[in-house]
Amino acid sequence: ATPMSVIVGVGKAAEYGALIRQGDALQTAGKLDLVILDKTGTITEGHPAVTHVHAAEGDQAELLALAAGLEQHSEHPLAEAILERAKSDGAAKRSVTGFEALNGKGVQGELDGEPLRLGNRRWLEGVGIDLSDLDSAARTITDEAGTPLFLSRGNRALGVIGVADAIKQDSEAAIRRLHDAGIRVMMVTGDVQATAEAIARKAGIDDIRAEVLPEDKAAIVEEMRRKGHTVAMVGDGINDAPALAAADVGFAIGTGTDVAIESAAITLMRGSLHGVADAIQISRATVRNIH
Ligand code: ADP
Ligand code: MG
Repeated sequence: ATPMSVIVGVGKAAEYGALIRQGDALQTAGKLDLVILDKTGTITEGHPAVTHVHAAEGDQAELLALAAGLEQHSEHPLAEAILERAKSDGAAKRSVTGFEALNGKGVQGELDGEPLRLGNRRWLEGVGIDLSDLDSAARTITDEAGTPLFLSRGNRALGVIGVADAIKQDSEAAIRRLHDAGIRVMMVTGDVQATAEAIARKAGIDDIRAEVLPEDKAAIVEEMRRKGHTVAMVGDGINDAPALAAADVGFAIGTGTDVAIESAAITLMRGSLHGVADAIQISRATVRNIH
């Protein structure tokens, strides 16, 4: 039978906005010694906005029109930011055929028989596109904690668009609570190292893994468990689902995708990272009451 104190604990956690979907998660939460946080939508608001538009050739409006032509088919938060900016600047979306979204890389399609790509440096350089003319524009973007997205047509680099996402107002305080509770906090993200470092610095995290492919988030969780850690994963995206399922306790952001919520033991209804610290605190108190 479920001890009375666990029922009380589950109710208490719900009051704090941590909805426990798997019965034993509350008891495990008190043993956590490592919390792994996704960046976009978990530490940050997940509503990025375009901050820079730098065209190597042609003008800004043309760059946005091409980028929006690709992103109109994507559901990524980065896509939303680009579509919003194209709209407010009055840049008409170009029509692109053969659209594909490549996890952790970006989006591609075809325009007049040429490949059109928008995504990160690693991917574009990997397909042989020279981005050196865009280096200083990209550095300005990462210095300001933004994500640079490069646009190419054929093998030509057309420009770079900077997208930035604000940190949730209580992320830093919640991360401090976790540290104070003796818990190690790590950030994992598909974003580039420089952007990840800028966000981590603002959020008070010194342990980061950047440029992580979506399928590798779960591998990091498993690696840390093998090293003897009791691991929580906190995330919001489809990309985070395998890692949420692999963790000792998965926490899904309540405003996140359904797949993430279904893969996690606990849903954070308020979207705040304080919910993780609350669940751990309640769990520690509950487990003390059982023994
Ligand atoms: P995160 O772990 O930060 O949530 P993702 O795995 O979703 O990141 O994305 C990793 C990287 O892949 C992004 O930072 C971006 O460079 C690129 N990317 C993914 N989707 C898109 C898209 N729709 N448009 C442009 N770039 C994208
Ligand atoms: Mg995310």
